[in-house]
Formats: sequence, structure tokens, C-alpha cells
Amino acid sequence: TKLLQYRGRFAPSPTGPLHFGSLVTALASYLEAKSVSGQWLVRIEDLDPLREPPEATEKILSSLDAHGLSSDEPVRFQSHHHSDYQTATEQLLKACKAYRCSCSRKQLQAHQGRHPQHCRDGGSATKDQPFAIRFALSDEHCQWQDLLLGRQQQLVQAEIDDPVILRKEGFFAYQLAVVVDDMDQGITDVVRGSDLLDMTAQQLQIYRALNATPPNWLHIPVIVNEQGQKLSKQNHAPALDNCKPVENLFAALSALNQQPPQSLLCESVDNLLDWSRTHWNRRAVHLTSQ
Ligand code: GLU
Repeated sequence: TKLLQYRGRFAPSPTGPLHFGSLVTALASYLEAKSVSGQWLVRIEDLDPLREPPEATEKILSSLDAHGLSSDEPVRFQSHHHSDYQTATEQLLKACKAYRCSCSRKQLQAHQGRHPQHCRDGGSATKDQPFAIRFALSDEHCQWQDLLLGRQQQLVQAEIDDPVILRKEGFFAYQLAVVVDDMDQGITDVVRGSDLLDMTAQQLQIYRALNATPPNWLHIPVIVNEQGQKLSKQNHAPALDNCKPVENLFAALSALNQQPPQSLLCESVDNLLDWSRTHWNRRAVHLTSQ
């Protein structure tokens, strides 16, 4: 059998400029792909215009560019693919793997924040109420192998609620779009932050429901600030300084425990990335800093 060529991706949501934590994720996914001569793609997950400052996409792309991280194919925008998500949603509805749910926030609170099971039988949605569409999780003890963290498991229905795939406001949700795009783009390997680890089991079920082969997953420890909080736009992580790409990449390599030699600080971005590709050692990435 012919081995599939590695195809990885970096898929930021444009809620703000690139910060150090997202550079670490981008670099890890880039190096995983490039160290095996694979393809690396950039995808902008712009599904929620209400949370996305209009300039964020441009800032993310120019920051990636400044750091020498360029997509091997034209950048894909989720906002251009609504019809693909629509098709997948219809497929799931037809297969009874998704259902309409018009539960209000209040009703959800009354059920400990989880929506009541009867929605699955069409109990809650009436024509005149706005509704969301949820994916119907199957109850299973889901197990999968993370390429860095090893064996993972989740008791699917006990631990997580049926995810929304189309929001009441009419926006498609991350859980569906990420799977549809990764399928469509032929992504073989997903490298992302371990803050998304809990999403994997439900995404695995969505792959199966769409009769698709899931990718490999590799979750890298998220970078925390001095207070131990995840570096994120919500915690006001500062934007990367695009005038210091070598310093930033050096720091990102160090955060990934790749032990770059100091001499790299005097090199160009391209030379630093060359060194990184040849020396990339996934196993050195620290598990304890999670
Ligand atoms: N768009 C997601 C985020 O920025 C990442 C999606 C993924 O890598 O699966 O958090």
C-alpha cells in the first residue's frame, strides 16, 4: 500500500493577532510536516464575524509571513465554504446523526447546563422558534492514540454534551467546520494545542458519521504566562513583534524544548527554519508544562 503524503495545517481563528502561544503551535505543526517533506497549509477559521476584528486575518497572515511560515497552497477561508458545511449538515440530519434543538439558555441551565435528551426525538423544536442543530453523540468509551500524549480516552456522553454544529444565530460551528475542512483538504495530521484535546472524541465521531477516515492527532502543551494562564487573546497576550522573527522563533523552539544553539540568533529566518527542520525532535517536547 502506498503511504499517504503528510498534509498538516495551522488553523487559527482570527479573533486577534498572532501571539507567542499561537506561534509555538504554528511552528510545531510546520515542523512536523516539513521534517517528513510534507505539505503545510494555513486555514483561517473565520466562522464568527461577531468575534473577529476585521484586521485580524491580515495581521495573522503577515505575522506568519514575517516568520517564514508560508502555506504550500492558497490560504483557505472558512467563510467561503458555508455551502460545504450546509451539505455536511444535511447529510448528518438525513442519517439521524444530527437534530434541531431550540432549547433556550434558561432551559439548559435548568438541566445543569446540558440540553435535555428529548430534543433528539424532535421534542423541543417547533417551526416558529429559532433552533440550533446539534450532533448526536453516540454513547461510547472513546479511545484514540495521540502522537505525543499517547493513549487518550473519553466517556463520550457522560463527559460532554451534544455539540452545536449550526448555531441559532445562523453561524456554523467549529466542531463541524474543522472536520469538513480537514476532510476536504486531505489533512492527514492535526497538530494543535492541548486545550483542544477534549474536542477530539466528538470530532472522531463526526468523521465516522460522515464516513471519513480521521487524521492523526498530536496535541502540544499550551504555553502559559507567569500566572499559569494559557496565553490567549482573552488573557491579552501581546501580539508578536514582527520585527524580531528570529528571536521569536528561537524562543518558540526553546518552548518546544528543541534546545536551539545560541548561534542561531545571528542567522536568517530561513537558516533558522532549516536548522529546525533537520533537528526537529517531537519526543523532546515537554509534557509537564501542560
Ligand atoms: N481554530 C481553532 C483555534 O484557533 C483551532 C482548530 C484546530 O486546530 O483544530 O483554536
